[in-house]
Amino acid sequence: MSYGLPKKVFIREVGPRDGLQNESKFIATQDKIDWINQLSLTGLNYIEVTSFVNPTWIPALADADTVTKQIKKAPGVTYAALVPNRRGLDRALESQIDEVSVFISASESHNKENINKTISETEIVLSEVVRESIANNKSIRGYISTVFGCPFEGKVEINEVIRLTDSLFEMGIEELSLGDTIGVAHPLQVRILLEELLKRYPQDKIAMHFHNTRGTAMANVLASLEMGITKFDSSLGGLGGCPYAPGASGNLATDDLHYMLSSMGIQTNINTAKLHSAALFIQEKMKKPLDSHTVKYRMKE
Ligand code: MG
Repeated sequence: MSYGLPKKVFIREVGPRDGLQNESKFIATQDKIDWINQLSLTGLNYIEVTSFVNPTWIPALADADTVTKQIKKAPGVTYAALVPNRRGLDRALESQIDEVSVFISASESHNKENINKTISETEIVLSEVVRESIANNKSIRGYISTVFGCPFEGKVEINEVIRLTDSLFEMGIEELSLGDTIGVAHPLQVRILLEELLKRYPQDKIAMHFHNTRGTAMANVLASLEMGITKFDSSLGGLGGCPYAPGASGNLATDDLHYMLSSMGIQTNINTAKLHSAALFIQEKMKKPLDSHTVKYRMKE
């Protein structure tokens, strides 16, 4: 009954980082810690907890060091954090994070806007971060953002995505997450890119990071599943809006993704009730309704 689909999927929960960094409300440090501790007990085996960027860039995550040090790490869960440069890596290592995530954009203007460096300048910085992470026995995940379209340039060349993919794997990353940062991707685009990448890399090296800005995230997940992809990034409750369109949806919601996968008989290892209470917890702290369909539906029950 698998219809050629994977039997098991691994969800990378990015809400505490990618969700909160795109919300204007500052969540108290203790609330973040309590929330991550709840997420740790849902069955999720991967949580991106924060970002060690300069706190003046992202004030919402200025407490990265405290959060990372004070969460209660559950066995079997990988705790990851975003690291932009050597300074961020030193903080991450000091905080005993399990896995380091590095990021780069496939579009020159988005990269410049995001971190004020060109793509090639960023590659130099990242190769040092990856080398030092490996020297410190940390696993590394790479992110490429704006893979399916850029808010400034529009079209992004598939060849540039492939070139950056090769560059990151040559540096030594273990898994690559392909980000649809502005939520423009559609299923055919996903197939076309994955067909190229899967000629070069096995399916388990690639994760997909979709945004639901135009309602296509779940269709893109299905297209990826049909290509054998088993790793997806998502944010509980769909937390994290779109930085380019205030009020628009951002990250695909973990609870919606879990609903679809588990209904299809695909294992996620997640406990639905615990996931829902973690969503209600952060909804209360955000003091606004979350975006996910599952939360909205269950609120009526
Ligand atoms: Mg995102």
